[in-house]
Amino acid sequence: MSAPTSPPPESTEVDSKTVIGIAFGNTTSSIAYTTPDGKAEVIANEEGDRQIPSVLSYVGSEEYHGTQAKSHLVRNANNTVAYFRDFLGKSFADIDPTNSHNSAHPADIDGTPSFNLQQSDDETTTAVSVSEVARRHLVRLKDSASDFLGSKVTGCVITVPTDFSEAQREALIAAAKAAELEVLQIIHEPVAACLAYDARNNEVPTDKTILVVDLGGTRCDAAVVSSRGGMYTIIATAHDYELGGLQLDNVLVDHFSKEFLKKHKIDPRETPRSLARMKLEAEGTKRTLSLGTSATISIESLAGGYDFHSTVNRLRYELLSKKVFDQIVKLAENVVAKADLDLLDIDEVILSGGTSHTPKIASRLAQIFPESTPINAPATSATALNPSELSARGAAIQASLVAEFDHEDIEQSTHPAVTVAPHLAKSIGVCIDGAEQAFQTLLEAQTAVPARRTAQFIAPNGGDVVVRICEGVREIVVTKPEKKPSNGVKDEDEEDDSEEEEEEEEEDIKNRVFKVDRVIAEAGIKDVKKGAKIEVTVNVADDLSLNLAARVVGGQQTVRGSVEGPAKAE
Ligand code: ATP
Ligand code: MG
Repeated sequence: MSAPTSPPPESTEVDSKTVIGIAFGNTTSSIAYTTPDGKAEVIANEEGDRQIPSVLSYVGSEEYHGTQAKSHLVRNANNTVAYFRDFLGKSFADIDPTNSHNSAHPADIDGTPSFNLQQSDDETTTAVSVSEVARRHLVRLKDSASDFLGSKVTGCVITVPTDFSEAQREALIAAAKAAELEVLQIIHEPVAACLAYDARNNEVPTDKTILVVDLGGTRCDAAVVSSRGGMYTIIATAHDYELGGLQLDNVLVDHFSKEFLKKHKIDPRETPRSLARMKLEAEGTKRTLSLGTSATISIESLAGGYDFHSTVNRLRYELLSKKVFDQIVKLAENVVAKADLDLLDIDEVILSGGTSHTPKIASRLAQIFPESTPINAPATSATALNPSELSARGAAIQASLVAEFDHEDIEQSTHPAVTVAPHLAKSIGVCIDGAEQAFQTLLEAQTAVPARRTAQFIAPNGGDVVVRICEGVREIVVTKPEKKPSNGVKDEDEEDDSEEEEEEEEEDIKNRVFKVDRVIAEAGIKDVKKGAKIEVTVNVADDLSLNLAARVVGGQQTVRGSVEGPAKAE
């Protein structure tokens, strides 16, 4: 990845279609572009940051942005705006100002959340609406990207959480427009994360069901996404607005504050400035603990004129954070249950957002899934992408895809008729007498219709063969595990988790199998040779009516049939 000072990609001419992807979070934002060979790259701003704090701060007539602005939370909190993204498009009565406690407070100006900021050299304050704050933030992001790319960025794809309302989307589009940025498309954060991973392989994505757990600063969101034929459908979502990196910062703030209190009889949490310093430093300590097994904190003159120096090891931090980790696991389990699925139905887990760097979170989530389920996070997969970059990368990929589309075409492709296409509720499969597996899946549940699939199956017995097209339901088969022989040797990791591991050994083994729920159609083929291949094609229309064709591969005879959709059948 290029350093911020490295030369930008070739063209320095003004390109009317310079587009980027933007991830705009409450805590940080990222900008990304797609290289000519189709790779998404996150852009560092002038300060060298790829995760740019979504913070603006004013000193006199000077505006600070990103990391510089964030450091102003200590001395200039009232003129520093942070954690504002979720206020966009909401009325003052509907916002939760909790996270603004240590920065500029939102004020109610004609029902709109606004901030009273001192933005000039005199002492006067002016009310700045959240839309205007968002505009200024987007201008800074756009300028950083334009500087890097050497051409004026004009369009973007922006990611939003799955619970963003229509009013919030409109407010975001308006703020971008005011920042002279055309929003080509708004996409959901979990879909962007899937796109980022799928684009990596440069292949047509395989059909799979993905759990995306997005762990941010102020909130955690989870989604079950079905990927069928390159189309992503969100089948369930869950949110927790009181769970995120800030909770983990607070675990360390409390831990260190108690230590300071014990030593000096002063609680640094009681003075806003000491608390702000502690929060900033504790966040750094927390990040260090994602890589190393211990981290230090060092704050000069923290409170009462005393300095503070301390160390914490990862094990202690993990113990103190157990409750937060438990809640994250619960959120993941909840969303799978909401999708009416079992954990075994999840083919892959993607951990997104900055907090996903935390090793214990990835390993705790890995524990609830079978060992074979890939958990894409830095701690559990050597090939994982940076979780902090997934949204921006996905948005950049989408931006390069839709950049050449006319506005109308984009609207067409995101029209509810397309995105809310009907889906198969159950899997459709083929049953052939004597085959080893009773039900062989042809179309997975959640496939958007219309859909067509062709596959070949072996007829083990030959003779007159009946091909049945069936709906299948998933069943979980539980078997007792065989006792593992113990070799008496333990490695270091095992010792830490020895209790959990012992419990795990007792656990039953679960497997996912399909059972025929209903036979939809039957086709008989005469005089089939033993072991011959039978090709079956199923076509499901958008009214869920079904066409079937079956033939022996290399043979002349094709048997066809059709079944009406449920609406007509009644
Ligand atoms: P939200 O909108 O939920 O506030 P966001 O999408 O803006 O969040 P992210 O950038 O995804 O925010 O996540 C920010 C959080 O990730 C912060 O709490 C930050 O401390 C945490 N974080 C970043 N890097 C690491 C790391 N290496 N280890 C642990 N936590 C990290
Ligand atoms: Mg986020």
